[in-house]
Amino acid sequence: MLIAGNWKLNCNILEACNLSTLISNHLSNKNLNCDVAIFPSYVCLDSVHKVIESTNINLGSQDCSTYNSGAYTGDVSASMLYNVGCKYVIVGHSERRIGKLENNQDILLKAKNVLDNKMIPIICVGENADEREEGKALEVIKRQLDESVPQNITKNNCIIAYEPIWAIGSGNIPANKSINEMLNMIKEWLSMNNKDINIDILYGGSVNKGNALEIFSCNNLGGLLIGGVSLKADEFAEICLMVD
Ligand code: PEP
Repeated sequence: MLIAGNWKLNCNILEACNLSTLISNHLSNKNLNCDVAIFPSYVCLDSVHKVIESTNINLGSQDCSTYNSGAYTGDVSASMLYNVGCKYVIVGHSERRIGKLENNQDILLKAKNVLDNKMIPIICVGENADEREEGKALEVIKRQLDESVPQNITKNNCIIAYEPIWAIGSGNIPANKSINEMLNMIKEWLSMNNKDINIDILYGGSVNKGNALEIFSCNNLGGLLIGGVSLKADEFAEICLMVD
């Protein structure tokens, strides 16, 4: 089980170091029953790595380039992220699929680059409100999986995150029944495509300390991807410590 904190476009270097110190203080000397990872912005990765390298918290990046090197101004490659101490890289977050017009093919390339550089991609999938309303959610997720998940994935090298777009940052979360339905569909997809069915599947979207326990009761849940609340050290740590 992984609890992942996506800090998005927040925190300068000093703030990121303070936040990671606070989270690690909350979690140090505690019996953690999950892996924990934090995802600061690119410029903070090196400093945060130094803060957490001898703690029980891992480092991840919010994205990476589709390229490995070359004339791609502004990009950061997977090998650079490995070099700075990342264990995980989020790919295909809806804020990039929508805001930066990334498509499934881009996300597949990114996920492959992450795998090639010995890190674990967290491949995000999720439907928007209209797609859910029209009863197309399962179909949309299946297509994202078909087109953005690489062939050679196992429980040890890949994670999938189900993040309904309408639940991100909105305070609205799906009922457990509908999270379960999606987790089961993703398991089925893994099995039909001859992939490791034990790959962890995270849920993400408006998780907080008030709803986390209920979400943990979903069968087949492999963890949580948390945005807003991961910026609150005490609440994020409290959720990590709920895992039994
Ligand atoms: C996210 O950005 O992946 C996310 C789940 O955000 P929030 O927890 O704020 O909804």
